[in-house]
Amino acid sequence: MPLPAARLNVFSESVIRAMTRLANRHQSINLAQGFPDDNPPPEILAALHRATDGPFHQYAVTWGAPRFRSALAAKINRFSGLAIDPDRHLVVTCGSTEAMMVAMMTACNPGDKVIVFSPFYENYAADAILSGAEPIFVPLLPPDFHYDSATLARAFEQRPKAIILCNPANPSGKVFTRPELLEIAALAAKYDTFVITDEVYEHIVYPPHQHISFATLPGMFERTITCNSLSKTYSITGWRLGYVQATESVIAQARKVHDFLTVGAAAPLQEAAVTGLEFPPEYYDQLLAEYTARRDIFLGYLAQTGLAYTQPQGAYYVLVDISPLGFASDREAAEWMTKEIGVTGVPGSSFFREPVNHLLRFHFAKTEATLHAAGQKLLKLKDYVAAAGTGGKLPGATRESLGQKPA
Ligand code: GLN
Repeated sequence: MPLPAARLNVFSESVIRAMTRLANRHQSINLAQGFPDDNPPPEILAALHRATDGPFHQYAVTWGAPRFRSALAAKINRFSGLAIDPDRHLVVTCGSTEAMMVAMMTACNPGDKVIVFSPFYENYAADAILSGAEPIFVPLLPPDFHYDSATLARAFEQRPKAIILCNPANPSGKVFTRPELLEIAALAAKYDTFVITDEVYEHIVYPPHQHISFATLPGMFERTITCNSLSKTYSITGWRLGYVQATESVIAQARKVHDFLTVGAAAPLQEAAVTGLEFPPEYYDQLLAEYTARRDIFLGYLAQTGLAYTQPQGAYYVLVDISPLGFASDREAAEWMTKEIGVTGVPGSSFFREPVNHLLRFHFAKTEATLHAAGQKLLKLKDYVAAAGTGGKLPGATRESLGQKPA
C-alpha cells in the first residue's frame, strides 16, 4: 500500500485539542483549549440572525467580503494608526490558523529557516513543516520569558527567511517590550527577514504592559505579515474568522495561497461579524476588565494551592509548575488532573522545544462561575503540595494505576 507523506510523521495531532476530547470524556472542566464558555455579545448574535435570513449563503469574495474588509480595515486603522487599504492589504482567512499557514507558505521556500521562540503555540512547528521550512528555536527564559540577545543574533546569522512573533505570547503570557521589538526589527532589517506575527490576543494585555503591533514600528510595515483573528476579541472561536495583513505585493501572493487552500471564510459569518468590528472603544475596555477579573480569580486559587505559576502580562494562559506532585511525565499529570481533580490543562511539553516536563498550561477564558468551580477543585492540590514537603504520598507515585494515556 502507498504510504502517506513522510513529513506527516514528524509531528502529531494537536495536544491542545486532544486534551479537549479527554476533558469531554471525563466531564472535567476544560481549561486546556483556550476558548470562552459564554456567548458572544448579543449584538453579534442578533446580527447573525439577520445574516442568516439575508442573501449571504453563497461564496463571498475569496479574499473577504467587501463590507467585512472595510469594517476590518477601519478597526485596524483606529487601533494601530496604519492606513490599511481593505482592497490591497488584507486577506480574510478561516481563523488565524489558516492565516499563519498562508503567511508561512507565502513567505517560505522549502528549506528556508524560520525563527520560532520557545515556548511557542504548537501550530507553528506544524506550519513550518507543512510549508517546508526548518525552525530555529530561540528560548524565552523564565520567569519573565525574555530572550537572550546574543542567542537571537546567532539565530539571525543563519539567515532565516522569517521569524514568527506571537505577541502577546501563548503560552507564556509574555508581552514584548518596545526595546525588544526594536531589536527584532533591526535584526530583521539587517538580514532581510519577514516578521510573521500572531496578534490574536492584542486586546488582552494587562497594564502597565502595552500591545505594540509590529507593523507599526518604523520601516516594519514592509516586512511584516500580520496574522490575527476575531476569535478571542469577540468570543467567536467557532466562527473561524481570521486575516492576514501585509503589503500589497505580499497580499497578492497570499491571496493565491488562501484561494487554493479554502476559497474563503464563511459568508454569513463575515456579514454578522461586521457588527463586532464596529463596536465602540468601550467594548474593548470592558473585554480587558473582564479578563483582568478572570485572571485575578484564577491566580487567586493557584496561589492557595502552593504551586508556582507564571504571571501573564497578556493573553489568558498560566503555566503551572507541577513538580511537587511527583509525576515523571506532564502527560500523566494532565491525565491524573482530569480524572482525579476534574480540571484539564495542556501538558507544557507540547509548547517547548527544550525538554520541559514539569508544567501544565491552564487558561482562564471562562465565566467567573466556571473559574470558581475549577478553583475549588484545584484547592484539593494543597494537600499534595503539603505532602511533598513532608515526604508524604504523592499522586505521581500512583500513576501506574491510571490506565490509558491521553488520546
Ligand atoms: N489558541 C487556543 C489555545 O492555544 C486554541 C487553539 C485551537 O485549538 N485553535 O488553546
